[in-house]
Amino acid sequence: MKRFTLDYYLDGLRSKDTVVLARAITLVESSRSTDQYLADQLLNEIINNNAQSIRIGITGTPGVGKSSFIEGFGSFLIQQHKRVAVLAIDPTSQRTGGSILGDKTRMETLSKNPQAYIRPSSSGSTLGGVNNRTHEAILLCEAAGFDVVIVETVGVGQSETLVNSMVDFFLLMIQPGSGDDLQGIKKGIMEMAHGIVINKADGDQAKLAKRSKSDLLNALHLFAASDTGWNTRVELCSALEKMGFAEVWEMISEFRQQMFENGLFLQNRIDQNLSWFENRVNFGLMMQLTSDDRLSEVIEKTRGKVKSGELSVSMATTEVLDMVRQLLS
Ligand code: GDP
Repeated sequence: MKRFTLDYYLDGLRSKDTVVLARAITLVESSRSTDQYLADQLLNEIINNNAQSIRIGITGTPGVGKSSFIEGFGSFLIQQHKRVAVLAIDPTSQRTGGSILGDKTRMETLSKNPQAYIRPSSSGSTLGGVNNRTHEAILLCEAAGFDVVIVETVGVGQSETLVNSMVDFFLLMIQPGSGDDLQGIKKGIMEMAHGIVINKADGDQAKLAKRSKSDLLNALHLFAASDTGWNTRVELCSALEKMGFAEVWEMISEFRQQMFENGLFLQNRIDQNLSWFENRVNFGLMMQLTSDDRLSEVIEKTRGKVKSGELSVSMATTEVLDMVRQLLS
């Protein structure tokens, strides 16, 4: 990778240069220690550049219409004089080699718009995990003047929880469906969602979509009220017919305003920042400790003894932690 200076990145971000933004994200994703050093400096410089932005997470099973929606919704937002960045967390990219979310052609119009930036998900090995760099990528997009940052993920594995831990507004996209289909939606995801958008509310499906909306609203009543004071909303939309974008935006804007008024917007970001910090420290500690040969040896030995029944889990753990203590002293 060609090397650039800190000033190159800072000037480029300040002047909203998306080529520099792309390079900056590549820099923070790099595992080279010299890149990490520069990335740390860069991230430290842009620390307070984000109060005006809104971070929107979008999840939904493949085929539900996420990319069609983001394409249309993104263009709608640009008409409202917003700049829109789209990032993806794709837990499947490792398995398939190519990435469904990484395909820029899925959002062809948006990707050509100078007011938009689309980051196909890289095929890095740590995309789904705690070492994921999407959080940093969000900050870089904001530093480059993007006021709406959309983080897209497919509803697979733990990716929704990961996305939810880094956005302000979490949107679940579904298709019109019968009561049975709706029951298949994971309760945990429904509870996490600030808004549920029923896409494809067009043509033959328009009627079913309306029924799904009232079924969903009924189901949502059964959940305990959120302690933020926000009640999950349900909106109909057709990405195909470009219908419903204004309503979805209004829902998100109302949420943002309400959360600002009750002080939870910034509080949530602080909480997210702290748990992100803790996760990263824990991960870093684990990596450092387990890379110590003496410790790995003790873990391997005690593991064998647990397996053969020679040691209780409790005693084995104590032996490992004694070794950690020795290493640290
Ligand atoms: P994703 O996998 O969730 O990103 O879904 P896509 O955006 O790729 O859409 C999957 C399929 O659904 C495509 O064939 C789209 O043309 C179609 N589709 C997307 N949005 C709509 C919509 O609002 N109405 C209808 N009828 N079809 C749609």
